[in-house]
Order: sequence, then structure tokens, then C-alpha cells
Amino acid sequence: MSYEPVIGLEVHLQLSTATKLFCACPAAFGAPPNSQTCPVCLGLPGVLPVLNERALEWGVRVALAFDCQVARVMKFDRKQYFYPDLPKNYQISQYDQPLAQHGHLDIAVGDETKRIGIRRIHLEEDAGKLLHEASPTESLVDFNRTGVPLLEIVSEPDLRSADEAHQYLLELKAVVEYLDVSTGNMEEGSLRCDTNISLREPHASALGSKVEIKNLNSFRAVKLALEYEAKRQAMALGRGERLPQETRLWDAKALKTEPMRSKEEAADYRYFPEPDLVPFVIDAQLIAQARQALPELPRERRRRYREACQLSAYDARVLTQHRAFGELFEGALRAGARPKPVANWMMGDLLAYLNANDLEPDALKLRPEWLAHLVQLIEDGTLSGKMAKAVFLQMLDQGLDPLQVVQAEGLRQIVDPASLERIADAVLAANPRSVEDYRRGKVNALTYLMGQAMKLSQGKANPQQIAELLKRRLEQANPRKERG
Ligand SMILES: [Zn+2]
Repeated sequence: MSYEPVIGLEVHLQLSTATKLFCACPAAFGAPPNSQTCPVCLGLPGVLPVLNERALEWGVRVALAFDCQVARVMKFDRKQYFYPDLPKNYQISQYDQPLAQHGHLDIAVGDETKRIGIRRIHLEEDAGKLLHEASPTESLVDFNRTGVPLLEIVSEPDLRSADEAHQYLLELKAVVEYLDVSTGNMEEGSLRCDTNISLREPHASALGSKVEIKNLNSFRAVKLALEYEAKRQAMALGRGERLPQETRLWDAKALKTEPMRSKEEAADYRYFPEPDLVPFVIDAQLIAQARQALPELPRERRRRYREACQLSAYDARVLTQHRAFGELFEGALRAGARPKPVANWMMGDLLAYLNANDLEPDALKLRPEWLAHLVQLIEDGTLSGKMAKAVFLQMLDQGLDPLQVVQAEGLRQIVDPASLERIADAVLAANPRSVEDYRRGKVNALTYLMGQAMKLSQGKANPQQIAELLKRRLEQANPRKERG
């Protein structure tokens, strides 16, 4: 029996507002422990929360980017639970009247686009952070994060594979990066993700028991955990077992999930309306302003690249994944380069460079016009493909304009026939054995001779010209073959 996975994702996004959600403490990451706290976020008696207006505006902006219906009236609720990182013993969140509902996000599945429902988006405050590393017998708590604004974005269970979940996260991260409301950095915890998965027989309408997975610290972890869990559940169902509804933890070292606790229901949290905050009316003007503040979103930019720059769907998708990547691309076009060669460099060598050095595109010290210069130097014949690759690395490693590199090192491809002939003759004279091999029908010998010619010219010989020249010389020196 094969089963169909039914997957939903809950993303917690930390908004990069200057201050916390209900007090004026700074919300910046990385300050000394417990240096950004006040009576409000420490939950001392007699204080009142005041909503951060910017967090509300940004929340509305995110909701509009996901095509959600923004609530006319939203309210906050207390979610009760005890944990040492939660000084109030409750978290201010939103229960039955969230900020926004009924949105969607389109993701790429192969060549198709699939629409994933967004059930709701709500505002809530973050908890503190427990540190267990300092000692084996004690834990420390840092309340700097307590009260930092979070947006929880809950998808419908519309995802059907770990790959789809991965695409959803990539697209979600791209949208919030374009909106500039969060760093979306998973390592710093500004984007956190829980997922839930159940299996059902294909086309069955009833859902299986939902298993929630926590402790997912990277997109890769989400994918691996979902793949693992789909397999584990399928085997259990295959043995005729009944799966409990539960919460499991992903163990990134052992690459498996472990049971954590049975799943809480909403009733376990004893939600009730936050008595210190009135319900908020979100007026039409605020929504209109947020809509006006929306930048071009990844899907719109993708459409523009396909239509105006004639790029393939795949190229357009890769180039719009990061806002900084797209801006680099467009800057190179403004500097006069044609779209396709720039796209090829970015998607080939540049992506490989980013991956090899574990860098995000905005960490590059690369000016867009340098990419244009590189492409122009190839197109006007100054650089061969091989030379361009070396210049490309200097451009990225040392932050140099390719024009500068070419001038400083006197780089120029050798294209004049007389010089190329001298190189070809020298190579043939120095390698009689390969010449003989070629005459006996070993066509591979040409590749070797080509390599020697490139070496002799320090990579500067025009590869097509020198190959043709060598071949012509070899054929001339091979009368038997000529006679057929
Ligand atoms: Zn505070």
C-alpha cells in the first residue's frame, strides 16, 4: 500500500522592528544577555502592554503579500503555559480573531505552479531563550528575546511531499526578504518552522493522525525530517499499527524523530482574551497604505524577467530567489549587458561560488557593472571562456573590476593568425609521438595537443582558432588519410 503524505507548515517569523511588540525595549539580536528587558516584558505586576504600531503595519503588509483577508477587528489572547523562559507564564498571542486569514502562496512543482493555502497569520510575542551549554547541572535564561514580535504563518495541509514543503519555505522566505520586514535568517532564529504530517490512502478524504515535528533548524532539516517521518508512518501503518497524535523532535545528529509528548489541544492552553489590550480595529486607510508600500514581489519580478528579458521559467525562478541576486542581475543589464549571458554567469559560476563559500548573495562585494564588463570582455574577444573564469574568481575574491584585471595583467586573448601558427608549430614539433598517434587514427591525440597549445600560450590562445589550426596542420601532414 502506498500512502499520500498530507503536510502543513507553521512558520514563526521574527519581525525586525526596532522595539519589542508590547514595550519599548530594543529587539535587536546579539546584545549581552538580559540587557534588553523592562518591567513589561519581564511580566512584573502593575504594568500594561502597548501594541507596537510598526509591527501591526508590517504584519498587514505580509498578510497582503500572501493575498490574505485582513481582519477588520483583531484581538489578542493569553496562551497559558509554564516554562522557565516565559516570565509571565502566558504568552500574548491571537486565538480566534487573528490578524489575517484565507491567503495563499504559489510554489513551483516541476514545471507547474501549485497554490498552497495560508490558513491564518497572527501576531504574538516571543519567549526568552534557555542556554544549557554553560554547565551540565544548570541552565541560564536570557530574556532579551522575550516580547520580540513574531508573525505566525500557518499553511493549510496542502503540501504533498518534502520537496513541496521545501519549495514553500523557499518562496515564503523570498517574499519576506523582498518585503524587508524580517531577516528570515534561520541560524539566528528569525525564521523558525514546525511541520505536521499525516499519511492517508490516496484519494481518501479522511486525514490520518497528525504528527507535529519540532526542532527544525534548517530547510534541510525540514526536508529530511518529513522524508523520515513519511517512511516511519508508512511502515507502522503497513504493520497494521494505529499511530498516536503526538509531537516529535527531530534529532539532527541521529537523523530521526523521537517522541516528545502527546499533542496539546487548544483547550490545554486555556486561551482567554487578553484583558490588558482592547480589540484593534484595522481601518481601511492602514490597509491601503500597507498595500501601497508593497514592493515588487518575487512572482511579479519572475513574470517580468520572463516577458521582458526572455528568460526561461527556471532561470527566472533562480534569479529571483534572493532580492539581492535579482538586483545584481538588473544592475548588470543597466550597465549594458544582454540578459542571457549575465543569467548564465550568475546561475553557473556565481551560484557555485556562493555555495562553495557558504555565502548569501548580499554578502558579495560585487558591483553589478563588473558582471557586465566580464560579459563584454568575452563578447569582444578579449577573454576566452577559460580566461574569463580566472578573472571571475579575481573579481569575487579580491573585489576587482574585470577591466582592471585585464589591464593590470595585460590579459588579451591571442587571435592573430601568425602568433597562433607559431604556437601550433611549436606544439607539433615538440610532440612527434602525438602527431604520429593522430595519423594512426587516434583522434584523441588532438585533445592532448590542444591542451599543450593552451599551456604554451598561458591560456591565452583562442581555443576554437587553435583547435582548427592544429587539425588543419595534422591533416596536411597526413597524406595517406588525405588520399582516403
Ligand atoms: Zn521590555
